[in-house]
Amino acid sequence: MKRDLHSHTFYSDGSLSPQELVMRAHMQQLDELAITDHDSVMGLAEAFVQQRGETRALSIIPGIELSTAWHGFDIHIVGLNIRWQDAQLAERLHIQQQARTSRAERIGDKLAKAGMVNAYEDAVKLAGKGQVTRAHFARALVNSSQVASFDTAFRKYLGKGKRAHVTPKWISIAQAVTWINDAGGIAVLAHPGRYDLSAKWLRRLLVEFKQAGGRAMEVIYPGLSPALKQQMVAYATEYELLASTGSDFHSPGRWCELGRHLALPDGVIPVWQVWQ
Ligand code: AMP
Ligand code: MN
Ligand code: MN
Ligand code: MN
Repeated sequence: MKRDLHSHTFYSDGSLSPQELVMRAHMQQLDELAITDHDSVMGLAEAFVQQRGETRALSIIPGIELSTAWHGFDIHIVGLNIRWQDAQLAERLHIQQQARTSRAERIGDKLAKAGMVNAYEDAVKLAGKGQVTRAHFARALVNSSQVASFDTAFRKYLGKGKRAHVTPKWISIAQAVTWINDAGGIAVLAHPGRYDLSAKWLRRLLVEFKQAGGRAMEVIYPGLSPALKQQMVAYATEYELLASTGSDFHSPGRWCELGRHLALPDGVIPVWQVWQ
């Protein structure tokens, strides 16, 4: 079985439509795909419709990636197998989406003050029907040749502590886990090695996440060294968390492909055991 349990569509900062993402999953011979847009479930309906028209089997896991604030860090909590049409979840997501919108306005103001032209308008246009993310601001600045690259946009303006950074008003980890659990899903700590946390802080994060009711962590995702991979296995074992795996696919490119190199190592308990 080939699985990818973390992916984005253009309803957040991915570049593919849900239809295109599902088609790509077939092209990559996936058996299971979780769609996990930032703070949104908007792509799921279209993905399920697309799959109904396909002849090849593909299990689509309805998911989400919730943004949380934790001691000044942006921590991402993925929810897998959520009841995505749940009314309470929709109401709750509305709060988070409003926080996103007002943050985008403030980022736009700061970029304007820094001399960037039309960044807010362009980012909103790029986001279309989806959530406005910093990735849209970065693309807007690159497209208008106001920065040299996507990375430069984060390094100079959008990253933590940089000129156009706005501290987001995201929900807490405990809230995110509650929202996911209340919607019948499994809370997964996303890409634990990507937060620039020391080992001591990462352990604190794992403890708090677990205490909040989190049940799994991503053990495999792109960019992990063999040593870090071992470390992730060790954390999953020590904190008794189920193991998830995902590419965090945003758009087709040289470095990232849906479902590639995502097999779980031995010694961990796969998260899909829960829904199989
Ligand atoms: P947001 O949720 O609006 O804060 O946007 C975060 C998204 O921007 C992430 O999901 C990544 O896709 C992208 N991103 C964040 N930080 C960086 C970075 N330093 N370099 C490149 N992309 C980033
Ligand atoms: Mn993203
Ligand atoms: Mn993430
Ligand atoms: Mn992601």
